[in-house]
Amino acid sequence: MPKLERSEWYDLARDMNWHFKYVKEEEVFPEELSNSYGIPTEAWWTWDEPYKVTYREYVRNQSVKDTSVYSVKAAIARSELFKHVDPGWKSAIIAHYGAIAIPEYLASIGEARMARFGRAAAWRNMALYGTLDETRHGQIQVFFPYGLLEHTPQFDWALKTFHTNEWGAIAARHLFDDMFTANDAVSTAIQLTFVFETGFTNLQFLGMAADAMHVGDVEFGALISSIQTDEARHAQQGEPTLKIFLQHGKKEEVQRLIDIMFWRSWRIFALLTGLSMDYYTPMEYRSMSFKEFMEEWIIKQFMDQFRDFGTDFPWYWDIFLDELDWYHHAIHLGVWFWRPTVWWNPDAGVSPEEREWLEAKYPGWNDNFGVWWDTITENVRRGEIEKTLPQTFPVVCNICQIPIVTPADPKKRHVAPYTLDYEGRRYQFCSEPCKWIFETNPARYAGHMSIIDRFLAGHIQPPTVEGALAYMGLTPDVMGKDATDYAWAFEQDGAESAAA
Ligand code: MN
Ligand code: MN
Repeated sequence: MPKLERSEWYDLARDMNWHFKYVKEEEVFPEELSNSYGIPTEAWWTWDEPYKVTYREYVRNQSVKDTSVYSVKAAIARSELFKHVDPGWKSAIIAHYGAIAIPEYLASIGEARMARFGRAAAWRNMALYGTLDETRHGQIQVFFPYGLLEHTPQFDWALKTFHTNEWGAIAARHLFDDMFTANDAVSTAIQLTFVFETGFTNLQFLGMAADAMHVGDVEFGALISSIQTDEARHAQQGEPTLKIFLQHGKKEEVQRLIDIMFWRSWRIFALLTGLSMDYYTPMEYRSMSFKEFMEEWIIKQFMDQFRDFGTDFPWYWDIFLDELDWYHHAIHLGVWFWRPTVWWNPDAGVSPEEREWLEAKYPGWNDNFGVWWDTITENVRRGEIEKTLPQTFPVVCNICQIPIVTPADPKKRHVAPYTLDYEGRRYQFCSEPCKWIFETNPARYAGHMSIIDRFLAGHIQPPTVEGALAYMGLTPDVMGKDATDYAWAFEQDGAESAAA
């Protein structure tokens, strides 16, 4: 290769756009794969990413990253470190791998679609790196848990989850298909790279990396940090795309894309990160509560950023803020109760000391949630474990696919699901935003069957808890059990004597 200065060839290589003579524009960029939102071709050519990289630099950087994270793994494999990690933390990473590893592979489909159908050459160039990034993230997050299989077969679910009909897998597939696997390139840049990656995953990975280091899980911390540096780079595809929408009077369109995916991202984060941060991570290692984390990273930093661009808070902002106090606590209670239906061991995380922490971080927690845990604790102490296990199923939302929960606070309570009749079928939703998402594009969402729809339609046989567990692919060696074998229920309780 001629020894040219980078500046002499870089712009030519990364940003060469041209008009087509032999084919039509719409043949090269079909709207289904690359929705232009009516913005003219040459307007897209102003697309400019803030941080630039050449292919040669990319390969060198990635090779350094892989070398360092794999050498941490090699060093850890020789130690007994993982055996001594807290059981709740193990559950957090088993849940993470099952929910995230294969979606990382799938994200490479979204990146590859932008690498072909992104509407500017510079954008396609960035997305090519993104495609390679996501392939790496898929591979590394299947390989690392493979090394931990001797500890529990639940690590096998890093690869397996997405190939099952486990309810969380259905929820994650529904979300990620909407966000990138079945999304056009332009909407993907807003919904995957701007909302999900800039807004949520970047921050989730920073938060989990910090907690991992506190807990002493150096391997997971190194892995997550390595992934996060890639995400920070390819997430930049969102901002230039957003700017072009706004410069061309498409605020309403881009706002809708943001509002849909912000809500959907919040739902999956509450389920995954909310439980990990406030219940599974050992209390002494928690750097922040989930709510504090959301306030600091999502509300302050991310929302400030996108208001600077001239977009508004989503219309459901008050609903979102209200949910920060209760939604993930309700989901935690449900996931723990329905623990055989997940591939990790939920950590109740409600020892007397932990309950004090929860009440301090979420005033009113005891009245809203502690009361249910009181009864569960009594049943556990009496040895009546069967009373703490499900005999039936919850109603599931037809958008987020997560069980429908309500706040215990009678002033806020909305008990019945939000419903919508569409083409002869009744759909159930957990919240007004999930219902609104369906209404923005019924043809996109109608017809999908939630796990409960499948149950009621007779797809799950026999129609019992056992039949459902088999349908979900859960075998006794992996189905969730209490993470600490109920140790929390027998811990010395200041809480009870204080109440007495
Ligand atoms: Mn990734
Ligand atoms: Mn990514």
